[in-house]
Amino acid sequence: MQTTSIRHTMPTLLYGLGDLAPQISEETMRYHYGKHLATYLNNLNALIPGTKYETMTLEDIVRRADGAIFNNAAQAWNHIFYFATLSPNPKSTPTGVLGGAINREFGSFDNFKTTFLAAGTAIFGSGWVWFAKDKHSRLSILPMQGADNPMCEGLTPLLTLDVWEHAYYIDFRNRRAEALAAAWERIDWRIVEERFR
Ligand code: MN
Repeated sequence: MQTTSIRHTMPTLLYGLGDLAPQISEETMRYHYGKHLATYLNNLNALIPGTKYETMTLEDIVRRADGAIFNNAAQAWNHIFYFATLSPNPKSTPTGVLGGAINREFGSFDNFKTTFLAAGTAIFGSGWVWFAKDKHSRLSILPMQGADNPMCEGLTPLLTLDVWEHAYYIDFRNRRAEALAAAWERIDWRIVEERFR
């Protein structure tokens, strides 16, 4: 029988694996991008043939699936989104409409940063700390466990940092707060601003 499954493929990074150092080392990127993300995509591609998910986009699978298919699809989506947010030459603060909205809803960008990093540090176990907007462009910070994603709650993700130990244990061992503060320095706010539009 002919297969019609979509094959979900590795994203192309806009930077080299060593270009985010010293905040995120080349060794971490070789494992995180080259092995962890690749494994989620391989698992997903093995799970979906013969299911209703085999012709869906990755986003649609994340919104509709549960169990192992959800976990692998969401982890793939989350990592692709996370790696696409980082840059060797990031814009370090948001300006324009997003900068104004953050100041209105969080008091200041510094207060937003403190709140976001604290929320990520406090997640129990593995997860992701998200910054998202609703359909009225209201902003929120969402600490989520496992593979969970704000799209499942009808929100639009703007930014995320990974708090699974595999994201930081090579470079920072158990020091999650330091790892998040370092990764923060690689967030390109140009990209977050584009997502807010
Ligand atoms: Mn990860």
